[in-house]
Amino acid sequence: MSAKKEAALNQLAADIVKDNVCPELAQSAKQLVMGDGNVDADVVFIGEAPGKKEDETGKPFVGAAGKFLDEMLAEAGLERSDVYITNIVKYRPPNNRDPLPAEKEAFNPYLDKQLAIIEPKIIVTLGRHSMEHFLPGMRISEVHGQPRRKKGIVYLPLYHPAAALYNGGLRSTLIDDFKKIPAILKLI
Ligand code: URA
Repeated sequence: MSAKKEAALNQLAADIVKDNVCPELAQSAKQLVMGDGNVDADVVFIGEAPGKKEDETGKPFVGAAGKFLDEMLAEAGLERSDVYITNIVKYRPPNNRDPLPAEKEAFNPYLDKQLAIIEPKIIVTLGRHSMEHFLPGMRISEVHGQPRRKKGIVYLPLYHPAAALYNGGLRSTLIDDFKKIPAILKLI
């Protein structure tokens, strides 16, 4: 299964380049950051867009926010190789600015195809941009840590690890929310 999925994901990455998605971002970024981890995972984490380290390495969440994500995965008894990690926008926006609505929209069909290939049971959204794609119209301060099921998939909206890095209150909230993942996995 995974070889087939890997091939489909490689083809999807090639399509993004061929279709010239977000040409300005593609030009300013060093490379496409498609995703990383286990393509057969039940849990997929979706962030916002690659930052500097991610742009340099081609892998999502490898900078400071990524280290924090790894710590929380460990606390939840998970490793990166147990999950799949990607972003809404797959090129680094210049100077780490927020992705523009048009950029998020341009990547939407590719994100949907990527998820259709992986077929996760749980989608964990990291931050507002990711939450808005799957759970539009919700406020992260009101719904974080509350799983909800839509069309057979469980969505768990969480705060973005980068937002929680230097905010003690948010950090412990995020860690508490994160620890719900194993129980949700057991239930489904
Ligand atoms: N922040 C994100 O949203 N994604 C990354 O890959 C890194 C930092």
